[in-house]
Amino acid sequence: MKRLQAFKYELMPNGEQARQMRRFAGSCRFVFNKALALQKSRYEQGEKKLGYAGLCKLLTDWRNGAETPWLKDAPTHPLQQSLKDLERAYRNFFEKRADFPRFKKKGQRDSFRYPDPKQIKLEQGNNRLFLPKLGWLRYRNSRAVPGEVKNATVSFSAGKWYVSIQTEREIEQPVPEASSAVGVDMGIARFATLSDGSFYEPLSSFRKHEQRLVRYQRAMFRKQKFSNNWKKAKAKVQKLHARIGNVRRDYLHKCSTDISKNHAMVCVEDLQVKNMSRSASGTATAPGQNVRAKSGLNKSILDQGWFEFRRQLDYKLAWNGGWLVAVPPQNTSRTCPACGHVSAENRKTQAKFSCVECGFEENADVVGAVNILARGHRVAACGELAQSGHSVKQEPSEATLSGVMSGVSAVGIPRL
Ligand SMILES: [Zn+2]
Repeated sequence: MKRLQAFKYELMPNGEQARQMRRFAGSCRFVFNKALALQKSRYEQGEKKLGYAGLCKLLTDWRNGAETPWLKDAPTHPLQQSLKDLERAYRNFFEKRADFPRFKKKGQRDSFRYPDPKQIKLEQGNNRLFLPKLGWLRYRNSRAVPGEVKNATVSFSAGKWYVSIQTEREIEQPVPEASSAVGVDMGIARFATLSDGSFYEPLSSFRKHEQRLVRYQRAMFRKQKFSNNWKKAKAKVQKLHARIGNVRRDYLHKCSTDISKNHAMVCVEDLQVKNMSRSASGTATAPGQNVRAKSGLNKSILDQGWFEFRRQLDYKLAWNGGWLVAVPPQNTSRTCPACGHVSAENRKTQAKFSCVECGFEENADVVGAVNILARGHRVAACGELAQSGHSVKQEPSEATLSGVMSGVSAVGIPRL
């Protein structure tokens, strides 16, 4: 089976290259925004949305036109890729996976992508990489790149440039080393509780850093905008943001690697994370209730990165030959695993489960995980309640297409 995987490295550009990369990222952003503005005005005038091919034609005009001659200096393919990105943003919107596409702002995820492997040269022995219109770039060679290079994405974050190199390689169909099945209950007090009773501490990295972040941001706003001190303060804020992101990612990866290595079948609740995190404020006609409490919970959910965690579990299990089963979440926290009695009364406190029918007592999160596992087994055995685990859909990031590409990760359709 084929595995697509991305490897990220810090770039060490010279001054000219750094300048060029800033310009290229700016050109790509410009093209994205211009195309988005165009689509919007077409829509307002009742015209049909232009397809990718139509946009590419326009791009050629823009590049050759007198208005934006500097677009010609940027490499063509990355500019076209930003049109592809816009296409995808629209598709995600139409398929209800995301909000309507927004204009890109400078300094927010500046990046551009080279899609053509024929134009990319990688010399790992010399720690250098060739990219069109940038030439040979040095990079911090922290690990080998296995497989065949498919594309490269250059991005800027917290003052540094990075390249993410996606490769494809043939690997043997994995046979899971573990044979056990486990249920995982995601929570606030504990990040994840397993049906075997073990659990992972909450992450809350954002909360921990939040006060510092607020302090830094206040300091920034007090400064004269665009002054040197303001720039310094801004860099501090961005650095802390990057740090929070790194801590979070590391933790999620550690947990998902752990679980996917030790179990062949992992059952999770089919949570609609997107809905949970969005519904609190409601709409103008139907304002949400209990907004403050919900936004607290929502913040926690996002903080914990459940969605990302699930995505990681999915592809890591596929890599190991295992699979992820998503089960419907109804009543998993209220059902007694001993006698099957379903009642809200069973859970008088957040932490403790105590069956009003048979007296069974256990930690509430463990009960949730046990119920999730039982449901997972039923789904696996006879397809009962089976539903696509991908119902919480997201565009797979470039790093993790493998599960989808290989077709191995059949969520909800386990191979027994
Ligand atoms: Zn009971």
